Amino acid sequence: MELVYTHPSHLVVAQARHALERLAIPCVVHNEYAAGAAGELAPIDTWPELWVTRSRDAERARLAIERAQAAIEEADWRCPRCASESPATFEFCWHCGQGRSGG
Ligand SMILES: [Zn+2]
Repeated sequence: MELVYTHPSHLVVAQARHALERLAIPCVVHNEYAAGAAGELAPIDTWPELWVTRSRDAERARLAIERAQAAIEEADWRCPRCASESPATFEFCWHCGQGRSGG
């Protein structure tokens, strides 16, 4: 087990985890429910933490997360179902959960 990412927003950590899952990198989130409702920030000692289960994946995982974070600079995309705009890093609509590509 190795810690590869932490952030006060569990939504951001969830996006990082999704980036790893797309690469089939086994990972788990600790303190996932430490924060309250969506959007609330946790105290620093209870930030959600993203861990890879195999330490050998850590470097690849950090790189993937770094790229996912860099993609924040990309334009937002508009949900095909509810027309809400989501950040480029989000694979699913923040509002209704619709997949970015329509599925
Ligand atoms: Zn939507």
